[in-house]
Amino acid sequence: MEEKKRQDCMVCGQGLEYLDSAASVTCIYCGKQEEGYFLCPAGHYVCNECHSRDGLEVITNLCLSSKSINPLEMANIIMKHPKIHMMGPEHHTMIAGVLVAAYKNLTGKIGDDEIREAIKRGHTIPGGYCGLYGTDGAAIACGIAVSVILKATPLSDTERIIANMMTSRALAAIANYRGSRCCKRSTWVALETAIQYFREVLKVETGYISASQLRCEHSHRNNHCSKADCRFYPS
Ligand SMILES: [Zn+2]
Ligand SMILES: [Zn+2]
Repeated sequence: MEEKKRQDCMVCGQGLEYLDSAASVTCIYCGKQEEGYFLCPAGHYVCNECHSRDGLEVITNLCLSSKSINPLEMANIIMKHPKIHMMGPEHHTMIAGVLVAAYKNLTGKIGDDEIREAIKRGHTIPGGYCGLYGTDGAAIACGIAVSVILKATPLSDTERIIANMMTSRALAAIANYRGSRCCKRSTWVALETAIQYFREVLKVETGYISASQLRCEHSHRNNHCSKADCRFYPS
């Protein structure tokens, strides 16, 4: 099989077509048959697992080895890696991972097991969630990070509330932006919101990148980029 594409269809590079109801599809890489919501015009389908497998390794390695206390900096490094696609559910995995890694490096109160747990949970959020379920996976990933840090369970009181509040804040922030979905934009908005929330609620000061310095280097890979209407688009 030819080299995998880093944007749009992994097989042929054509823009994906999204469906408003599920169709029966077969993953071109692993042969799994399932119900899916997107296909490329040539009929190629790649399942969530095959789409994000290479990225999962990149994300896990960086989150476990980095000494950074800056989740935005870690995310920017990961997103520049050739195995990370322009769009895809690996962004959910990454957000949960870099937030927990930054908290670990900053406080020493948690360890590598918590990073692995956050990555594992983030990896379960499918692609396309923002449009199909009305909840951006980037926001859920922030809630996962807080849940892991506070060891929340469904029976917890305060910890569960704090984790849910994190998700709601990140989701509200993401929903404020117009245009088609962009996993890079959602990542930056979610992480900015989480950094602020960590400061206010968890009382920790992670590193950050100021709004004026956060500039997108990926817009040429996004056919649906909002360009000048996006605050991250380089002027
Ligand atoms: Zn294709
Ligand atoms: Zn597959």
